[in-house]
Amino acid sequence: MDSAARIADKKDWIKGATGDWEIVLGLEVHAQVLARSKLFSAASAEFGGDPNDHVSIVDAAMPGMLPVINEFCVEQACARVLASRPRSIGSRSSTARIISIRTCRRATRSPNTSSRWWARARLPSISMAAGASKSASSASTSSRTPASRSTISIRAWSFVDLNRSGCALMEIVSKPDMRSADEAKAYVTKLRQIMRYLGTCDGNMEQGSLRADINVSVRRPGAAFGTRCEIKNVNSIRFMGQAIEYEARRQIGILEDGGSIDQETRLFDARKGETRSMRSKEEAHDYRYFPDPDLLPLELEEAWVKAIESSLPELPDEKKARFIKSYGLSPYDAGVLVAERSSSAFFEDVAKGRDGKQAANWVINELFGRLNKEGKTIDETPVSAAQLGEIVDLIGDGTISGKIAKDVFEIVWTEAGSPRKIVEERGLKQVTDSSAIDRAVADILAANPDKVEQVKTKPTMLGWFVGQVMKASGGKANPQAVSDKLRERLGIN
Ligand code: ADP
Repeated sequence: MDSAARIADKKDWIKGATGDWEIVLGLEVHAQVLARSKLFSAASAEFGGDPNDHVSIVDAAMPGMLPVINEFCVEQACARVLASRPRSIGSRSSTARIISIRTCRRATRSPNTSSRWWARARLPSISMAAGASKSASSASTSSRTPASRSTISIRAWSFVDLNRSGCALMEIVSKPDMRSADEAKAYVTKLRQIMRYLGTCDGNMEQGSLRADINVSVRRPGAAFGTRCEIKNVNSIRFMGQAIEYEARRQIGILEDGGSIDQETRLFDARKGETRSMRSKEEAHDYRYFPDPDLLPLELEEAWVKAIESSLPELPDEKKARFIKSYGLSPYDAGVLVAERSSSAFFEDVAKGRDGKQAANWVINELFGRLNKEGKTIDETPVSAAQLGEIVDLIGDGTISGKIAKDVFEIVWTEAGSPRKIVEERGLKQVTDSSAIDRAVADILAANPDKVEQVKTKPTMLGWFVGQVMKASGGKANPQAVSDKLRERLGIN
């Protein structure tokens, strides 16, 4: 399909003073490859460190140094390409210090209807480049006290930090196929998720390992493309949404006033929530790339590419479909569980040989809920999959009620230990002994004669009785047995 042909859903149209408009978006995502060393040198690619700690003479572009391509980085870029279907890796070339690996023309995928747009966001190319350096400034204060008088001098200077220079960056460029801020946000979220699954990029937007340049234009629905502006280096999904909304309205304002859009590069100011001009088109596209005679064209052997392809992990959408099918989960729950590869693995450890829905329930509601509250990730959970599985087993075989299970979870979270042992040692076993339940039911009925009268005409009050008996048993009575007994005694079906 021609990019221009797709018209936004009506709900995404923007009402202007003179009629409706739609937004057209194309994204260039820059993702730093998770590699220990840089693209053309053995210097560390680790984040942080003191300025210029991680620099080799190749990264500093000293004359006469021979770059050596990092095979691992190329492998990661290939994996990313292969993760978009139909899988194909075409031409290979090496010009300047950019490796360009052309991907398939069309990335069709996702059985997930909520990411319908994904099938439309075509990725014409993924290329890899060595990252640039950054400048930093510093102020230093020194004081000295000469014999006669004291002076304080403040000096400021700026310097170049080459730590980031030469780190491999994947550039993933989409066609102008997206039509709303939500689509663009969903697109980057999905890209990030896939790269995290593949381990090609950690997706950490705050640290700058994932950033997006957003090309925004507006047009009358279905009309020819308008002139675009490019918002550089947006480093949070939330800011992306804000930047797109602001920029689209700015352009509509200009056009409705009879003006025209200058193609330019803009910056998003998160504090003010607005975009502002950075540089015009003339300067924007001159990156001064030129062929590097020290880099020979890269030939990717078919067998090598095949080997990467066969080692790709199960991707989020496939995993989600499998979770729905084999564990009987709702699409929503399956989506939550596959969001991160490590949480999906944790879930599968809990669910192995158990009821999938029950396992999902405990992982999502109790475990994730608790982790969120404490700002912990799944990798920092104090309750292991084996422990959580044991709790699910204890409920399943009727040893404890769901309510007691929550207490057991709490004890395991704070004090550690085996759930089964905790239940034994603290006498938390569910009372299924019918004579004990009979006695508790009889006591509650005897103590509440007026309510016994009421429940005969208002059977919904049964819940109140169940609650009273449960309370009297310290939560240990089996609720089903209590309810059955009460119905029998009160003559309710
Ligand atoms: P160039 O070669 O000038 O960099 P490209 O055609 O490669 O331009 O496009 C760069 C980015 O801009 C791509 O992500 C593309 O989808 C996007 N883009 C192109 N035209 C438009 C437009 N009219 N509106 C929004 N985005 C656009």
